[in-house]
Amino acid sequence: MENNWLTENTMQQLYCDMCQKFLADRLVEGTCPNKVCNASARGDQCETCSTLLNPTELIDPKCKVCKNTPRIRDTDHLFLELPLLRDKLVNYINETSVAGLWSQNAIQATNAWLKEGLKPRCITRDLKWGVPVPHEKYKDKVFYVWFDAPIGYVSITASYTPEWEKWWKNPDNVELFQFMGKDNVPFHTIMFPSTLLGTGEKWTMMKTISVTEYLNYEAGKFSKSKGIGVFGNDAKDTNIPPEVWRYYLLMNRPEVSDTLFTWADLQAKLNSELLNNLGNFINRVLSFIAKEAGAGYDSVVPDAPNAGEHTLTKILAEKTSKWVEQYLDAMEKVKLKQGLKSAMGISSDGNAYLQESQFWKLYKEDPAACAIVMKTSVGLVYLLACLLSPFMPSFSDEVLRQLNLSPEENLSLSEEKGEIAKAKSPWDFVPAGHRIGKPAPLFKELKDEDVALHREKYAGSQAERSSKAAADAEANKVANQLKGTKLSDGGTKKGPKKQSGGSKSKTADADITVAKLDIRVGLIRKAEKHPDADSLYVEEIDVGEDTPRTVVSGLVKFIPLEEMQNRKVCVLCNLKPVAMRGIKSHAMVLARARRGRSWPPSCTVTVSSWRATKMCPSQPRLESARSRQ
Ligand SMILES: [Zn+2]
Ligand SMILES: [Zn+2]
Repeated sequence: MENNWLTENTMQQLYCDMCQKFLADRLVEGTCPNKVCNASARGDQCETCSTLLNPTELIDPKCKVCKNTPRIRDTDHLFLELPLLRDKLVNYINETSVAGLWSQNAIQATNAWLKEGLKPRCITRDLKWGVPVPHEKYKDKVFYVWFDAPIGYVSITASYTPEWEKWWKNPDNVELFQFMGKDNVPFHTIMFPSTLLGTGEKWTMMKTISVTEYLNYEAGKFSKSKGIGVFGNDAKDTNIPPEVWRYYLLMNRPEVSDTLFTWADLQAKLNSELLNNLGNFINRVLSFIAKEAGAGYDSVVPDAPNAGEHTLTKILAEKTSKWVEQYLDAMEKVKLKQGLKSAMGISSDGNAYLQESQFWKLYKEDPAACAIVMKTSVGLVYLLACLLSPFMPSFSDEVLRQLNLSPEENLSLSEEKGEIAKAKSPWDFVPAGHRIGKPAPLFKELKDEDVALHREKYAGSQAERSSKAAADAEANKVANQLKGTKLSDGGTKKGPKKQSGGSKSKTADADITVAKLDIRVGLIRKAEKHPDADSLYVEEIDVGEDTPRTVVSGLVKFIPLEEMQNRKVCVLCNLKPVAMRGIKSHAMVLARARRGRSWPPSCTVTVSSWRATKMCPSQPRLESARSRQ
């Protein structure tokens, strides 16, 4: 604040006295101020006429939580004075975006902010959750998440090691690369650099930013908040190995435009690229070397003098070194997809090389040539393990294990050590006489039926999936309970008394169907709190009999008492009466989960003539009874 990079400003915000807090925009509801619209709207936007709103503009605003009318209250906030830092910031952006090869989408998003004109940005919020502002006057406020999150990069390092300044205050020797989706760009190219520049200290600032567009899911959009798509825990549940996920997502990385995740595409890439190209090449080479003498090399890499003079091998070596150059160039520019493709090119060429050489014939006809092909190929296997390790570390570890090499023997590809030049003679990577490990298949085919299963399982949103799972579990539970519950024989009873007497049929346990459930629409004549239980209501429900039945329901947490009065509900009438906290319940009020949510339930009935009492589900499935409620 001393150097004026931070200023204080008073804003007007709605405050709810009942909830004792300032209300976030979306927690205010009221009427749209747009005269021709007048629809009910949220504090940030009217969804009817699409007008962006300030919550103080709403007519008759209400707190969404408690329905109380909030009042306008002044609140002071801290602002980052971006306009004052403009020159320093523009310098940084112009220099670094060129030197750091920023991706085009990062440059665009940054320029869009600059073009709009830099405004002071509010960095505090009236929220309970967050990092508290370390200042007496602002101790009840927290920092805006995009002010404090990038500081977290530094503070996380500092809590890891006292030597954190070696990385974060060492711009001459440290290059900082950051990766993110396009919606987070301005916080890393404008907000955080401004924070650092404002301190006047010598920080390591971001050099390269690699920004992706969006990855869409099947026909729609991935959405973490809506739960649409496949997420980390789902990916684990599929039993598809991590290296396959990593390969597919990186090969499909939305570097310049949006890309699409589809199960069919995942299957195609796994089966044709990983299994038939990469896995096949490595397995063919290692299996042949592992064969016993007479058919192979007894697991020992053969010697192959003058490999560089073997025509086919010479051509392969030239291609390989070109791929390695392309790989390095792409990786330097953070074009990860191109890097991965270059590595896979080596594998494709390797397969073609094996095929053309007809090594299985050479083994008997020209053993020297066969040894050259095998020694060169095993070198490619090693090279592939090294080049692919940033993409699929678990895969590389496994290949090195099968090669009987330790993970530390991973090639560093440093120019100084001449390791790049080694790609020109791939037969030299693994020395003659080296004993390899035991070869094993590296990838497993993904079958059509599995793809169909995954596609169906991960359709819709996570909430729908979990409420479906919960509904299935609930249905099973109810079915199991019913098996253990003695049902009376259906039919309309004259009065509640007789209800308890009808539990004669033991065979009901065996052939239980929904048709046996006596579900009726009843009218709650009166409802009150149970005198001895906080969670229970006691209702008098008219189910078309001489006298109303007394029913006890555990709905206090979910449905307000006034909404229970005079309400039509579905009632299961042929359960054995049970006493709940001293009051005998002669039926059960049925409730269902709302769409897309498992909780809270509702028990609204839309049947207009409630006197048409007994409901007869046409299908003998519990599910159909549920959906009728
Ligand atoms: Zn409107
Ligand atoms: Zn409130």
